[in-house]
Amino acid sequence: MASNAAPNPPCVICAYPASKCCGGCKQVSYCSTEHQKQAWPKHKKLCKIYQSSNPPPADTYCGLCGNIGPLTTTECCRRTICDDEQDYQMFTYSNVSCNRNHCRYTLCSFHHNEDHGDGKWQDCEKCKNNFMEVESYIGQGTSSFNFKDDVWENPPPFEPTRCKKCNRAIKMSTEPHMYGPNGLECGRC
Ligand SMILES: [Zn+2]
Ligand SMILES: [Zn+2]
Ligand SMILES: [Zn+2]
Ligand SMILES: [Zn+2]
Ligand SMILES: [Zn+2]
Ligand SMILES: [Zn+2]
Repeated sequence: MASNAAPNPPCVICAYPASKCCGGCKQVSYCSTEHQKQAWPKHKKLCKIYQSSNPPPADTYCGLCGNIGPLTTTECCRRTICDDEQDYQMFTYSNVSCNRNHCRYTLCSFHHNEDHGDGKWQDCEKCKNNFMEVESYIGQGTSSFNFKDDVWENPPPFEPTRCKKCNRAIKMSTEPHMYGPNGLECGRC
């Protein structure tokens, strides 16, 4: 690829530059087959909708997984989403609940909850300054917990975040990590 081409879009799972897109709808990007597989259960129905020449109205299905109910509306952006908070089991940190994922792990909800004003979260300095690692910030704005209409065209680039101890790159969105006395450490250290 030419060096002056647009940077690769971020992977919707980990925010690293993507090298492939969904072969079905060609509208979702992934860094690896692994993350494509990880995304598939929640993408499967949306993929069909994206490919449809006559898609159903946006308020009739969850914008994160394509399920048709039970549904509710997000507080931050008033979009239709699974009414599935009860599917989440405390302290499992699982990603099953669309509603919980959007309301806790996106800039859309953060920007709304913190009352950052009428501007777009994609351009919000206050959102950006809240994150210690640019990678986490980009991750919350580009992950599949976001609605497709909010695709962030040109998110700022970031350097992979590295473990202070072993210098391994840590994919912040998908790998265990913690802040030790010397800074960020990976789950293996
Ligand atoms: Zn990825
Ligand atoms: Zn697809
Ligand atoms: Zn859903
Ligand atoms: Zn929202
Ligand atoms: Zn904001
Ligand atoms: Zn390490």
